Amino acid sequence: MTRLNGQRMDANVVVLGTDNVGKSALIVRFLTRRFIGEYGDIESLYTHNVVVDGREQTLNIWDAPYSQDLSSKSLMCEKRVQWADGFVLVYSICDRASFNTVSRLIQMIKTNKDILGFEKMPIVIVGNKRDLHHRRTVLSEEGRLLALSADCQFYEVSAAENYHSVLMVFHGLVDRIRESRVSVKKLAGIKGIVKSMSAVFARRRTDSL
Ligand code: GDP
Ligand code: MG
Repeated sequence: MTRLNGQRMDANVVVLGTDNVGKSALIVRFLTRRFIGEYGDIESLYTHNVVVDGREQTLNIWDAPYSQDLSSKSLMCEKRVQWADGFVLVYSICDRASFNTVSRLIQMIKTNKDILGFEKMPIVIVGNKRDLHHRRTVLSEEGRLLALSADCQFYEVSAAENYHSVLMVFHGLVDRIRESRVSVKKLAGIKGIVKSMSAVFARRRTDSL
């Protein structure tokens, strides 16, 4: 799942959200810097090399189709959470239902994460189609509040009009994934210390018998 080869990092990213929110547009914008308008519905896995803060990263990005079945024990959901090092959850600022789905996706990820025993999963919430502000039905504050309450990052972007903000989304997620790996390593370090201390105490107990 996760490989660290010296300075190089591999990370798996799953992009989720209801149909038509711009998941494919967002990914294609990130990969090619272009917005081509229509994308079809093909499920795709992309591999892309990026440099973030001077370090090379290989990102595997899964453009996942939306599945209605968000029940936490669904095999599909479990598979995605197991594969992922991080998630991009997309909604459209003109589509209230797509925003409501983001909360359910967070719930699905957190439930599966607990079942599978992961530490904190890096998640970025993205409100897309910012250029369509005249049709806005979800306020920026609502997105920000949701992200705050679920401990996620938040961006509002326009895949159609702006490359830079889309770049920020993926760079932000890479940063989060790196942080989560550092804390996992630290946790492993603490566990190691606890283990060796209990070994010392166990030995003392047997010594005193
Ligand atoms: P997906 O089903 O979530 O993968 O959505 P798509 O990437 O296929 O995009 C759905 C539709 O929304 C397409 O017609 C896109 O051209 C359009 N779209 C995507 N992003 C934006 C955006 O930022 N602004 C506007 N105005 N349209 C967008
Ligand atoms: Mg798509």
